Amino acid sequence: MRTVTGRTGHVVVVGAGLAGLSAALHLAGRGRQVTVVERDPGPGGRTGRVETGGYHLDTGPTVLTMPSILAATFAAAGADLADHLRLTRLDPAYTARFADGSVLPVHSDADRMADAVREFAGPGEAAGYRRLRAWLTRLYAAEFDRFVASNIDSPLGLLSGDLARLVALGGFRRLDRRIGAFLGDERLKRVFTFQALYAGESPMRALALYAVISYMDTVGGVYFPAGGMAEVPRALARVAADAGVEFRFGAAVTALDRRGARVTAVRTEDERIPCDAVVLTTEPHQSYRLLGRAPRRPLPLRPAPSTLVLHAGGPGDWPVGHHTISFGHGWASTFHELITEGSRMSDPSLLITRPTATDPGLAPPGRQLFSILAPVPNLERGPRDWDSEAEPYAKEILDRVRTGLLPGFEPEAWHVIGPADWARRGMVAGTPFSYAHSFVQTGPFRPRNLPPGTENVVLAGGGTVPGVGVPTVLLSGRLAADRITGEGAR
Ligand SMILES: Cc1cc2nc3c(=O)[nH]c(=O)nc-3n(C[C@H](O)[C@H](O)[C@H](O)COP(=O)(O)OP(=O)(O)OC[C@H]3O[C@@H](n4cnc5c(N)ncnc54)[C@H](O)[C@@H]3O)c2cc1C
Repeated sequence: MRTVTGRTGHVVVVGAGLAGLSAALHLAGRGRQVTVVERDPGPGGRTGRVETGGYHLDTGPTVLTMPSILAATFAAAGADLADHLRLTRLDPAYTARFADGSVLPVHSDADRMADAVREFAGPGEAAGYRRLRAWLTRLYAAEFDRFVASNIDSPLGLLSGDLARLVALGGFRRLDRRIGAFLGDERLKRVFTFQALYAGESPMRALALYAVISYMDTVGGVYFPAGGMAEVPRALARVAADAGVEFRFGAAVTALDRRGARVTAVRTEDERIPCDAVVLTTEPHQSYRLLGRAPRRPLPLRPAPSTLVLHAGGPGDWPVGHHTISFGHGWASTFHELITEGSRMSDPSLLITRPTATDPGLAPPGRQLFSILAPVPNLERGPRDWDSEAEPYAKEILDRVRTGLLPGFEPEAWHVIGPADWARRGMVAGTPFSYAHSFVQTGPFRPRNLPPGTENVVLAGGGTVPGVGVPTVLLSGRLAADRITGEGAR
């Protein structure tokens, strides 16, 4: 594995999102002096928090998977996750609701899920589910540690026995067809393939390799921290500070001082911070701007679709679980609209989250908090004036959800975040999901974490390897630390 060269005693990490916090914890745990510079007043980045009228809104991720990776991040600085976060395993992980009125609880426990599938679609599909689960588990074992959680220096580095295993498992076939080999029921297929959208792809185009995301939530399980998702970066930042990491909040990095191929200092408006090495967790295009060079690629990178999220709170009670996926009638057409055409979904599929189902303290007494996440095209594929369209679209999706799921819901708290807001935060094409995880933008084909032409700079975060999502950006922080200290070095 290639590493940075020269001294690495003092590392400056730019950004206190999950990737930056993870890098800081791993580096501090390995004896480096670490300074984290963050433009916001506190940690979290995309794992954000808005407080309004007694409601505590998580504005970023809601589906927390792979807590073992989070635990390893705490452990990197000698801390125990259990001392800092109280995680609840959600059961069901999701509730899937289909346009024909049918409902399926998605359990991560094998027997409970097999029973649910039997009741939903019969014994043949239940047997198919068990075979699918065994396949997902084998795929995860062949793929994750070797290809997701490791630094790979070149495409040649992929060649191994594990690659042969992935080929044998059908990992390079199309995701929908591969899942279709286990399940015949179209509704069930959606439950195990919709996760392709997390990777910015459609299940029809994505490779079956991406079923590893379905493994993470449908087998590994979905968790929720007491106090909400914003507690995750807060707890990581506390542990980092205890481990000696220095934080500069409210300080945007404006330039990097260089001597030849080495960055010698990080500059904010008020300060020059000398450093031996730098971890940049800014969006890749901003990182390249700071570095003064553009990546050389034969084809431009394709951004993932974006999202509009409505957060709404109000009085009442509904028998709605923590996560509901509401599938519209359309499926292939939905992905075509979002990814190819650049138009809004004509028959939306939505993720509806009720965090107060698990932690009632996130809303005032007798109130419920919901977030409704609607995938929308990114600004490159579907340019629109979201400053004027976000509110009407949010009302439209709320009306859709009210019918059936939340009859009579009248919000008193209301907060909408959409592509124009993500763009104002500097996110590529107004999407918080960075570059899509198409095959040519994954693994060694994704923007590398060691940018060419520099000797002591490493990238981390969703735009580089391994990619977008809470577990993966935590891993990207560890991979960045490995590039600085050598793998697993102490
Ligand atoms: C609405 C939404 C829903 C999501 N849902 C899920 C989900 O359910 N499950 C899941 O696993 N993932 C989900 N994700 C993805 C996940 O949240 C992200 O991949 C992850 O949080 C990104 O972390 P990061 O550290 O790479 O980036 P960020 O969190 O953006 O961190 C980068 C930090 O750098 C700072 N920064 C930028 N420029 C500068 C500068 N010049 N100087 C100083 N600081 C700077 C930023 O302020 C920010 O704090 C979701 C994201 C969003 C937005």
